[in-house]
Amino acid sequence: MLSKIEEVLIRDFNACDRCLKRFVKNPDKTYLLKAKENRRRCKLCNGLLSERNLLKAVLNKLRGYSIRTFNVGVRVPQSLQSLENKISLDYGLIDYVPLRKAIKERVAKYVKHKLNLRMQEPADISIILDLSENINSVIVSERKAVYRLNFIKNAGAKVLAAKCDVCGGHGCSVCEWTGKKNDGSFEAYLLYDVPKLLKASKPDIIWPIKDMPELSFSGIGFPVYVIFDTIKERTRAPFLIDFNFDKDIKIVSFYEVKTHLSLNKPFLLSGTVCIEFKEGCDDEKMKTIKHLSKIRLKGKNGIKVWDKSFTVKSISIKGKACCFECKYESGINFYNLFNIRETPKDKEILNKPFKKGEVKSFTLELYNINLPD
Ligand SMILES: [Zn+2]
Ligand SMILES: [Zn+2]
Repeated sequence: MLSKIEEVLIRDFNACDRCLKRFVKNPDKTYLLKAKENRRRCKLCNGLLSERNLLKAVLNKLRGYSIRTFNVGVRVPQSLQSLENKISLDYGLIDYVPLRKAIKERVAKYVKHKLNLRMQEPADISIILDLSENINSVIVSERKAVYRLNFIKNAGAKVLAAKCDVCGGHGCSVCEWTGKKNDGSFEAYLLYDVPKLLKASKPDIIWPIKDMPELSFSGIGFPVYVIFDTIKERTRAPFLIDFNFDKDIKIVSFYEVKTHLSLNKPFLLSGTVCIEFKEGCDDEKMKTIKHLSKIRLKGKNGIKVWDKSFTVKSISIKGKACCFECKYESGINFYNLFNIRETPKDKEILNKPFKKGEVKSFTLELYNINLPD
């Protein structure tokens, strides 16, 4: 019975050896030899299973990528799909390998072997072969790359970029449509230099925490997310990034985030905050710090109590500084909390724990950020 099907497939459809194997498990060797001659004129695959140019086209498209994983999607002509459906029904060959799958496996095997890549979901790139309209097109689409950087900085470091002078932040050709000035800041490095290094599109940058220019950060660093729609140097990225961006800013960790970002909710940070006072730290200041969990704001309709999550675990004296271990919400504004800044806006704050000019410096050593990727 089986040998008969092999014969029919060769006689009626010029079946090639690769197609014989798709429909028949362990086909007879004499048939396979005969079918091998049909590779160019096989009506079951239209020669697609023997087309080396297709594989070469895929390899060409992948040139210049530094990636680890891929997947393959294939579209085959509708006529071939209908034909194989009909054959499977007519001869009861339910277990056959569809052409689409056979091409996919062939391409995957080739790419794995040639470029040493892994097939995986979600993949760094998707290779899409559209063979449906007799136009063999190969499209490569890149998955968005989301990187998380944690950085530390000295007080006064230039973190954020200024608005573009020409367009005022709307985006123009001068600022390469970023709206930001290439002013040597950390943000400008991320917007202008990093995409060139990674052969990537201009990134979207998400700062989960506001910049606090007068503060110095140490420890595990503050997070920032950099998202590229397209990127070629994906796996080499950590080697191309400048970890000592300048003397005042340092990237302490850099990695790709594989899951979906959920940044809408506030998150908790913990660390040690040290406030250095001109006159040194004393009992009264320590007491004040202990009671900082509520901030009273004077609004139009009276006094509003702003209750932010801020807990002081322990307080100690280090030189002229009061240092305290604390846990706080990401949205908290240290300037409001400690009244460090003297701007017209801040003058509305009734809670003035320290006298004007009393605070000399302010440092924050972070040791935990409860911000899951
Ligand atoms: Zn074939
Ligand atoms: Zn501009």
